[in-house]
Amino acid sequence: MIPVKGYDGQKVAVLGLGRSGLAAAHALEEGGAEALCWDDSSEARDRAEGQALIVYDLTRADAWQDVAALIVSPGIPHLYPTPNKIIAAAMEAGVPVDNDIGLFFRSFAGSDWDSFDTMPKVIAVTGSNGKSTTSALIHHVLEEAGRPSQLAGNIGRGALDIDPAHDGEVVVLELSSYQTDLARALTPDVAVFTNLSPDHLDRHGGMGGYFAAKRRLFAEGGPDRAVIGVDEPEGVYLAGQLSEGPSDDRVIRISVDRKLSGSGWQVFARKGFLSEYRKGRQVGSIDLRKIKGLPGTHNHQNACAAYAACRTLGLAPKQIEAAFHAFKGLPHRSQLVRELNGVAFVNDSKATNVDSARAALSAFKNIRWIAGGLGKDGGIESLSADDLAGVTKAYLIGNSARDFALQLGDVPHEVFETMEQAVARAAVDAQPGDTVLLAPAAASFDQYPDFEKRGEDFTRHVAALSVGG
Ligand code: ADP
Repeated sequence: MIPVKGYDGQKVAVLGLGRSGLAAAHALEEGGAEALCWDDSSEARDRAEGQALIVYDLTRADAWQDVAALIVSPGIPHLYPTPNKIIAAAMEAGVPVDNDIGLFFRSFAGSDWDSFDTMPKVIAVTGSNGKSTTSALIHHVLEEAGRPSQLAGNIGRGALDIDPAHDGEVVVLELSSYQTDLARALTPDVAVFTNLSPDHLDRHGGMGGYFAAKRRLFAEGGPDRAVIGVDEPEGVYLAGQLSEGPSDDRVIRISVDRKLSGSGWQVFARKGFLSEYRKGRQVGSIDLRKIKGLPGTHNHQNACAAYAACRTLGLAPKQIEAAFHAFKGLPHRSQLVRELNGVAFVNDSKATNVDSARAALSAFKNIRWIAGGLGKDGGIESLSADDLAGVTKAYLIGNSARDFALQLGDVPHEVFETMEQAVARAAVDAQPGDTVLLAPAAASFDQYPDFEKRGEDFTRHVAALSVGG
């Protein structure tokens, strides 16, 4: 745990008692503050009391007297679509509003750091898609290269739950827009922006607000190095705004869209080859097509981002390449779960919307596509004939199955009651060289508690297939 600094002897309110809220409350107490905890749910309050935390009713009109700050959980809106009442009352009373990420950055540096040979560093990763994969990949490469590293934030442990840093350690933090929006301190050494596409727009008052929330990671703390995906106009703008000129190598531009040129520092992937250029000269390259854990252009973008971040720490291209080969992929994201009779079975249960399903579909050929679940607005109507060109047949499940069937038109498809039936039929139909891909383009809640359980169900049925077919 990282004890929170700066609130010794003071009262700090904590709203939302999930994983990050509870961790924040404990870390505040550890730092000498009195954490006043509240959650609308009585079960969450009971859980906090069970952990010897102080439950304090923050809905009271006089709740804000002598409160130094309010720490809120990422799921609670402070502005859009409508401010949570407790946060609004704190703001009205002039109480600073912060979150666990702000507390982390103000508290991370330890008093023992003076004796360290190599200062600990923080790499923070944000973006609309690929945050988890990129963060996990950076962490993996560092570990393979023998650099001590911890993975936290939106993935793995809460930021304040990690162990105080050792000499030379690197903390990799995955940060969502909710987290970067509110944190009062954001001072990573290296900040990564993978890409931008519309998401969570109701929480940010539209695309401008969403981009502004992510941009804070770069604008507030002034990281030493910024790795920026420039395949959208926002990334181009951000990279330009952060650099002094074209040759400023504090900004590393990444792309999977085009060959980047110029006198600065660039990493791009074209036709499966990653290239690194610095000052107009090529200094590194990797054949990404051979890397099984990172299939598809979207993963090549994650690879470029992770590669660039690791290069800023001085790792050699060869070291990074070797580690990429050993990367297994994250569960439920383009995860190869089995190869059977020449057929690959891939679990991308995290493809809960049409954009991430499109990314998954573009990564494979001869696809037996298992899709459907709790459909989102528009279903799969935005998939073009090109997007579906690799699909040999769709195996549809869940609430959205019939809507998806209509939207698929001429693409061969069949509707099933259960994942088990869909997997069994896809396995029977598949020819050597095919990929059976679970990429639902829909939420899981109609049939499963979450996307993880859906992915595990797929994996279980795939594991149960017999070799004889
Ligand atoms: P995040 O943490 O940003 O949600 P993940 O790495 O968990 O990202 O991936 C979420 C989903 O998006 C998965 O279905 C994955 O296949 C897809 N995806 C991963 N990386 C990218 C990317 N760079 N661009 C587009 N889609 C991606």
